[in-house]
Amino acid sequence: MSTTLISLNRKAAEFISTPKKMLINGRWVESVTNETIETRNPATGEIITTVPNGGVEDINLAVAAARKAFDDGPWRMMKPNERAKLLLKLADLVEENGEELAHLETLDNGAPVNVTKYYPTAAADDFRYYAGWATKVTGQTIPVSIPGDIFNYTRKEAIGVCGQIIPWNGPFLMAVWKLSAPLATGNTVVLKPASLTPLVALRLGELVQEAGFPDGVVNIVTGSGSIAGTALTEHPDVDKIAFTGSTEVGRQIMRSSSINVKKVSLELGGKSAHIVFADANYDQAIANAATGIFTNSGQACVAGSRLFVEKKIYDNFMSDLADYTKNFKLGDGFDQATNLGPLISAQQKDSVLNYVDIGQQEGAEVLIGGNTSERDLEGGYYVKPTVIANVNNNMRIAQEEIFGPVISGIPFEDIDEVIKLANQTEYGLGGGVNTTDVSKAHRVAHGLRTGNVWVNTYNLLDPASPFGGYKQSGLGREHGSESIDMYTETKSVWINLD
Ligand code: NAD
Ligand code: MN
Repeated sequence: MSTTLISLNRKAAEFISTPKKMLINGRWVESVTNETIETRNPATGEIITTVPNGGVEDINLAVAAARKAFDDGPWRMMKPNERAKLLLKLADLVEENGEELAHLETLDNGAPVNVTKYYPTAAADDFRYYAGWATKVTGQTIPVSIPGDIFNYTRKEAIGVCGQIIPWNGPFLMAVWKLSAPLATGNTVVLKPASLTPLVALRLGELVQEAGFPDGVVNIVTGSGSIAGTALTEHPDVDKIAFTGSTEVGRQIMRSSSINVKKVSLELGGKSAHIVFADANYDQAIANAATGIFTNSGQACVAGSRLFVEKKIYDNFMSDLADYTKNFKLGDGFDQATNLGPLISAQQKDSVLNYVDIGQQEGAEVLIGGNTSERDLEGGYYVKPTVIANVNNNMRIAQEEIFGPVISGIPFEDIDEVIKLANQTEYGLGGGVNTTDVSKAHRVAHGLRTGNVWVNTYNLLDPASPFGGYKQSGLGREHGSESIDMYTETKSVWINLD
């Protein structure tokens, strides 16, 4: 065990001390084949523990359990206020076990404890927000104009069994988002975490059991995307798939979900623009641009990876941003001084560094960052915060999602040009603007073809505010009332009163 793990939460240490099982129909089980997969600590490359390698048969069992809990089980009969109470209880348990969950996240995914310590509160807030919704999902009475004495009303009903597939870059909160709204609206769930980061989801499964959710309402199957994930998306008894991950896999999921016309919602990749005008509060703009890209070491779907800077301040801004990266302390997430953790895997590190090379071949200039040669970071998958200048929007580093701590600076002359350039991408997830001119701020906010825009800030999220993407960044919105719509069917009921 590496020295930094000495500070590991006692219960987290206990949790990883045994091979983990997965949750199907209220029981903790091995995979049918008894196969397992290892999960590693990205700060050291060391194996943390193993989880079941769930396959087709395990997915079948989990879907059958979720189906039964939805069709016949107590879940369908349960009153909304009872569902709310369970979600509120789960929120309390997440807070009570907050440090353990945060440490499991740091261990499995690498995000610093400095950051993951805020996740339990965010998770509990999410469960409480949707607990509030459980009793407030209403239909309408509709004044239809057809002849006769007709009463028409709508009901919002749960969709059924939801297959929830999540990525490795934010395993804790992604699992929470994929449980809160569907459970509040009365659906049952089969959750498949990413194979690189299964631990927090499994611990959440224990808390779901402790809170008292009936068996089969929440099932968690660990396993690969290609086998377990595909089996879930192709399963005829699954009514909806909610997926967060890459655009490439999102397309694949739309295809396989078409088998039984599943409802599909997708949160996919991004190549978000962060736009800095010369009139901006300069220091704030530097800090926002840095937060936008370096949060989670750039492994964020909303990462502001294309930085558009007004020409007259471009050179100074790029070199000051490069300087600013020296504030980031790269290291093991369990070190309290660390504010930038490792990337998730050796493969991810290679891929990110390869993009830095591609950028140089395309004629861009690396101002700071790239590979790390520090001895105390050996074994982990570290990449230094990287600032690249002299980029144009057509280069591969400006068009492809790098998913690492790499920001590409592009100069612009005026507002119409920058809105056009910012929209020249297949993605449409996030966007940032720094300006003190309120009309510029609104013009850019309205002009960007993206699901989120942040002005003089970046990365803000709240369970009450919808989140999602335009274009190839996704389908549907999570959070707010939009999630309620996404997890319900609308039924129109006609009554002849004559
Ligand atoms: P990924 O697409 O490789 O995997 C995501 C999940 O899908 C994993 O659980 C994986 O096992 C599973 N999966 C893989 N292939 C599958 C298949 N054929 N059928 C069913 N499931 C399959 O993504 P990743 O590498 O884990 O995550 C990074 C990507 O996720 C980035 O593109 C990032 O932008 C995106 N992301 C988007 C958001 C958002 O909200 N828009 C949030 C986080 C991450
Ligand atoms: Mn891991």
